[in-house]
Amino acid sequence: MNIAKVVVDVPVSATDALFDYQIPDDLQTIVEPGIRVIVPFGPRQIMGFVVDLTSESEFENLKVIQQVMDYKPILTSELIQLSRWLQHETLCFRISALQAMLPAVFKAKYSKEVWLQTEETLLPENWRAISQGREVFPFQDLIDAKIPDSQIRRQIEEGLIEINYVVKGKNRVKKDTYVELALSEPDTLEKLTEFTNQAKKQHDILEWLLDQEQPVRLKQLQETLSVTRSPVKSLEQKGLLNLVQKEIYRNPHSRSFEATESLPLTDQQQNVIDPVLNNIHETKHDVFLLHGITGSGKTEVYLQSIEAVLNKGEEAIVLVPEISLTPQMVERFKSRFGDDVAVLHSGLSTGEKYDEWRKIHRREVKVVVGARSAIFAPFDNLGIIIIDEEHENTYKQEDYPKYHAREVAKYRGEFHQCPVVLGSATPTLESYARAQKGVYRLLELTERVNQQAMPEMDIVDMREELAKGNRTMFSDTLVDKINARIERREQVVLLLNRRGYATFVMCRECGETIQCEHCDISMTYHRTQNKLKCHYCSDERPMPNICPSCESDAIRFFGTGTQKVEEALQEQFQNASIIRMDVDTTSRKGAHERLLNQFANREADILLGTQMIAKGLDFENVTLVGVIAADALLHLPDFRAAEKSFQLLTQVSGRAGRHELTGEVVVQTYTPEHYTVEMAADYDYQSFYLREMQVRKRFGYPPYYYLVLINLSHTNHVKAVDASKRVAQILGRDLGDTTEMLGPTQSPMLRIKDRYRYQCMIKYREREDVEAALSNVLNHFQKEMNQDDLQLTVDFEPYNFM
Ligand code: ADP
Ligand code: ZN
Ligand code: ZN
Repeated sequence: MNIAKVVVDVPVSATDALFDYQIPDDLQTIVEPGIRVIVPFGPRQIMGFVVDLTSESEFENLKVIQQVMDYKPILTSELIQLSRWLQHETLCFRISALQAMLPAVFKAKYSKEVWLQTEETLLPENWRAISQGREVFPFQDLIDAKIPDSQIRRQIEEGLIEINYVVKGKNRVKKDTYVELALSEPDTLEKLTEFTNQAKKQHDILEWLLDQEQPVRLKQLQETLSVTRSPVKSLEQKGLLNLVQKEIYRNPHSRSFEATESLPLTDQQQNVIDPVLNNIHETKHDVFLLHGITGSGKTEVYLQSIEAVLNKGEEAIVLVPEISLTPQMVERFKSRFGDDVAVLHSGLSTGEKYDEWRKIHRREVKVVVGARSAIFAPFDNLGIIIIDEEHENTYKQEDYPKYHAREVAKYRGEFHQCPVVLGSATPTLESYARAQKGVYRLLELTERVNQQAMPEMDIVDMREELAKGNRTMFSDTLVDKINARIERREQVVLLLNRRGYATFVMCRECGETIQCEHCDISMTYHRTQNKLKCHYCSDERPMPNICPSCESDAIRFFGTGTQKVEEALQEQFQNASIIRMDVDTTSRKGAHERLLNQFANREADILLGTQMIAKGLDFENVTLVGVIAADALLHLPDFRAAEKSFQLLTQVSGRAGRHELTGEVVVQTYTPEHYTVEMAADYDYQSFYLREMQVRKRFGYPPYYYLVLINLSHTNHVKAVDASKRVAQILGRDLGDTTEMLGPTQSPMLRIKDRYRYQCMIKYREREDVEAALSNVLNHFQKEMNQDDLQLTVDFEPYNFM
């Protein structure tokens, strides 16, 4: 096995094959599947992943691997295999698939460090000259000293050193000094009696340490006991305590959690968990769809399923939408499973993510709770995969590889023969239809654990408000109900589906609106900076005083952004305190958590926010939820607009009255007769499903057909149009009559970042019906994509049609 099959980091399709490289003798023991190497490629040296070893190659005069980048595999064999499946499934480059599974640190500029794991004296002699008493030193020092890789590998295998990756510049892996007792407890107690009054400080330190269960940070000791370093040093010299250097994981969730125990399940919960437990015990794969209304106790079912998995010695992945990966959510897992839990979400810095990933990689944890990419957690003994809020769009990745975490979960579930549980109060039509057909196993929770009814949903017709002469954005009903809450010192959540101060600027004289020059979308007025901003390309410019078209000064912002609603609210409810949560107020790290904590501590009467407040939150004191304008979502150019609105309305209502106090919901809309609004008000998922399925059937949308979207863009408008016509020609020629092609058309956003965008959509039933045609398209455009400015992407199961 002296030949490595390598996926090289050159994402062009012509090179998207495996390349054979000779493994030099001194790397024989190191090179194995799952490590990265540096190889010659043309005139360059590039990175590649070793995915296989072999002893024979059909090529002669193989080039030789120059160097290894890892000394231990960073990918498991399952993940290597999965990367091939991803490549095929999403038509991405194998290298992108491999990289998608790893934390960003492996793509960033990083350096390697050597960490001693034992006494320096145990290292080979020539190493001591390099380490020179340092517990951590740059890997480069080994290279400079010409230490052979095989020797490095041996030290790793014997547990003498570890190699760690450090992001350049910031986020260094942190070490700190810890204090621990050197002697056993009885011996220390005995020594304690020997201390004189002069050494009171030393006495106190020892006494305090006896009460600690684990080594304590020196700093913490000093702070708690108000002592300097010198008594600690004295104790160390007397051989009573040890000072040790330990890694401190950057812990973004460093609060300690009160431990919780499993709750006795309700009958309904027991009925839905039994089949899942059965699969766990029998090591059997099935996909379960857990359809349970909010508050029906789905999370408790997840927790107890995971417990069974851990008891079996296996591992669990829990996916939660980024947005509901709140401290409250994390707490429920940490308080049940303690330090066995790693948390992965995009709020973490590159270094923090690497820390969490490393805990998984080293098997220091057994449960990972995370956003989409946590589906690639490098566990090798998976016992369950849970996807909470399975209907959320965030599970689909919009960049290459354009994978859906649900599909990856099914792949891994089958590989490990473990159950996959998809949970939601409002499952996607696709999933529910599969459950109806028996492809998934349907589990239903129809009652809330506390037996409370879902809150009453009050639909207010805003057209009538206007006719009544109410020109504010708050109906009389909403105002009355908010006032009542403020009086009773209860809390209110208000949802608005927009961000910024106002959505767009319009001239009342001539109707001119201000569009982004690059994106053809309305620019948004941001009051704090008095600027107009484009939400697609971030372009900005000053707010004009007069209309650029007719020079009238009647140019105003229209629409209702959160900031504007906040002002109107404050005016309407002078004594209320308001917390606004949107992309603007939560962009700084930790802001999200801080605002939610404030609200939970009842520091405000009203929480006003965008979708991000609709999910996962659980506040005891909230008894009213208001939706300012339900129409905003209903009229998006997207076949899922109704489904998304239904989901949002259902979810936001779930925020009210989850505890002893009963809750109410007020939904303001200009189209109260829309079936989505009516059925959401009745919490009637079944009827909505049936009704919406008719629409999908009539127009040939999922789940009746699959969709694939081909997006094209070019900075030159003529070239973009021309390319889109050629795509349509090839598809028209090569697609059979079992499929239907739509387009080519302009994308809803014709221009983004100076690129003109066109699209073609295909509706199909069998993947093989589109495969040949799509690969012909890709081949046809390959050269233009490499040499010209053309971008062409293929998106299966698209979620974003803009
Ligand atoms: P869901 O995830 O379906 O919205 P949760 O799991 O959050 O529901 O449960 C709602 C509330 O009911 C939570 O406060 C939870 O602690 C509580 N709960 C869940 N199961 C039980 C049970 N078997 N006994 C008592 N309380 C429960
Ligand atoms: Zn723009
Ligand atoms: Zn004008």
